[in-house]
Amino acid sequence: MRSKFLINMTPNFEFEKLRLSEQEKATIKKLAKEERASYGIAPIGRDIFSLMNSKENLKIIHYDFKNTSKNIDAMIYKYPDSVYTWILINKNKPLIHQIFSLAHEYFHFKKDIPNGIDGIPCDFHSTNLREIKANRFAAEFLLPTEAISNAIENIKIKNDKINELNYLYLILELSSRYCIPLDVCHFRIQDEKLYDTKIETNFFDNQIQNITNFLKEKDPFSELLSCDNNYIVNDNIKLLQTLFLEGKITESDFIEMANDLDLNEPFINSVIEQKNSQYIDEDTDEDEIFTNLRRP
Ligand SMILES: [Zn+2]
Repeated sequence: MRSKFLINMTPNFEFEKLRLSEQEKATIKKLAKEERASYGIAPIGRDIFSLMNSKENLKIIHYDFKNTSKNIDAMIYKYPDSVYTWILINKNKPLIHQIFSLAHEYFHFKKDIPNGIDGIPCDFHSTNLREIKANRFAAEFLLPTEAISNAIENIKIKNDKINELNYLYLILELSSRYCIPLDVCHFRIQDEKLYDTKIETNFFDNQIQNITNFLKEKDPFSELLSCDNNYIVNDNIKLLQTLFLEGKITESDFIEMANDLDLNEPFINSVIEQKNSQYIDEDTDEDEIFTNLRRP
C-alpha cells in the first residue's frame, strides 16, 4: 500500500519522487543498521548531537540561516586541504527537525564527502537524488525497522488489528520516542509494509500539519517542536572560545557569533581579555573556513 501523501501535499521531506532501485534502498538500509549498531533498536533521538560530536574530524555548528533566500535545512562542507568536515544545522527549525538534519548530513559525511564533494546546501523537500538518499538514510537511522514491527505486534496483541485510531497512536508513540517528525514516521511505517490490514491513510496525510500544531503544547512534543536546542549549544560555546583564543577567528567574528549564541556581555568581555593577555600565532586554513562560514 502506497501512501497518497506524496501526491496530495508538499511534503517537508522528499523520499521517492525519483524512485530508488531496490538495491539502492537495501544498501541504505544496511548502512543505517551498521551505523546505529551499538544502539540496536534503542532510540538515538537527542543523543545524536553527542554521538556525532564524538566522530573524528566532524564539527557541528548551530547556525542561523534566516538571511539566506532559499530553504536550507542544513549544510555540510569540507575544504580540500582541511581535515575537518563542518555540519551546519539550521537553528530556526524545530528540534525534531534538527535531529533529522544531523542524521541526513551524516549520510553525506559517509557517502558524498569522501567522494570529493566539498559542500552541499541541503533542502529536504528537493527531488535531487542525493537528497532523497540522505533523507531515506536519516529516516532508517533514527527509526529502525524492528522498532516499528515490535510496536505493531504490541498493537495487534491488544487490539487484534490495525485501525485508524491505533495507527494514529502508533505514529505519536514512535515519533515521540524516536524523535522523528510525524510525516517521516508515517512514511517509515508505510514503506515497511509490516501489516496487511487496509486502512485509510488519507486522514493522516491531510491532518498531519493540524496534529503537529495541536501537539506543540503537549509534552514531550512541546520540546521537540520548539526551536530550542540545549544539546548542541554548550559545545558551540567551547568551540567558539577555543577558535578565538587560538587566533583562528577575528575579534569581530567572535563577537558576532557570540551574539548569535546569545552569550552575555561579561562572558564575551572576559574571553576578549583572556585573548589580549596571551599571544598565539598559528595560521591554519580554518581562518578561511570561518570567513566563509559567516556567509554560506
Ligand atoms: Zn542533503
